[in-house]
Amino acid sequence: MIPFDFEYYRPESISMAVEWFQSLQAQGKNPIYYGGGTEIITLARNQSIQPGAVIDLKSVPECNLLGFQNDRLVIGACVTLSTLTAVNPFPLLSETAQGVADQTARNKITMGGNIFSEIPYREAVLPLLLSNSHIVIAGKQGIREISIHHVFSEQRRLEAGEFLVCVLIDRTYLTLPYVHYKKRQIGFVGYPLVTIAALKKDTQIHTAYSGVCPFPFQSAEMDRLLNDISLPRAQRVHEAILQLPAPIMTDTEGSASYRKFVLQQTMLDTIHALESR
Ligand SMILES: Cc1cc2nc3c(=O)[nH]c(=O)nc-3n(C[C@H](O)[C@H](O)[C@H](O)COP(=O)(O)OP(=O)(O)OC[C@H]3O[C@@H](n4cnc5c(N)ncnc54)[C@H](O)[C@@H]3O)c2cc1C
Repeated sequence: MIPFDFEYYRPESISMAVEWFQSLQAQGKNPIYYGGGTEIITLARNQSIQPGAVIDLKSVPECNLLGFQNDRLVIGACVTLSTLTAVNPFPLLSETAQGVADQTARNKITMGGNIFSEIPYREAVLPLLLSNSHIVIAGKQGIREISIHHVFSEQRRLEAGEFLVCVLIDRTYLTLPYVHYKKRQIGFVGYPLVTIAALKKDTQIHTAYSGVCPFPFQSAEMDRLLNDISLPRAQRVHEAILQLPAPIMTDTEGSASYRKFVLQQTMLDTIHALESR
């Protein structure tokens, strides 16, 4: 049960969503955008958040797009992880999405809700970082398209009142050789100790990580070291780990030292799998 009252809004256009957010904000109602609601409902139940209004984006047509526009794959923010996996336009993204939660939760969890969730994992963002995706953002300044790297440089950066409309991925990335490894403490459902998604493009391996640091990331310097074939693989991994963008996390899933051990093995598996392809 959610132990407080809140208002529910379901706009049918981008402009309506933006205007309602501004108006509700001005009335002091502390509005929040709503995708699948899995995180919002959990946090509201334990009163970690207390929005006075939620703005459900699921009736905004652009947030439900899933298909190609010219040479780009368009994925609306409200497309669920289950739909992404079933339609499978980008196999690396499908496999990453399939690693999140369980089927029942994935029927609700949206692309936008996963990449803007409060949790440090946000695994669906990894294939977007690797494919240099662009995202369309709407807010009171209008609609803008920006690189995913601008929004996901360690911290998520959206202005207050902005929301993700859709993601744009260049078609050339969709069929590249890839691997995805998700290592958990136990079982097949749960948050990662280490997740690595990787693509091979023009002989170079590109890697992205979740579960390692308190945010998902890709590092050009780590990729440069991992691709230095003049060094043995174990040394490349050792040197790449020295370039992590933040200390390795300790949380209920595992300690930093255990995560580091799992990370080393998973990076070796990644190089081994992609170097031969
Ligand atoms: C059992 C379980 C296991 C899970 N395991 C994992 C895991 O291993 N890895 C992982 O990455 N995730 C995992 N998740 C998912 C994660 O914890 C969140 O619940 C989920 O990502 C939230 O998605 P949602 O669509 O329900 O978002 P919501 O609950 O609707 O919103 C979450 C946040 O995103 C914001 N938001 C929503 N849509 C937009 C938008 N279009 N633009 C801007 N902001 C937006 C909301 O305002 C809110 O702050 C798990 C969830 C469950 C229930």
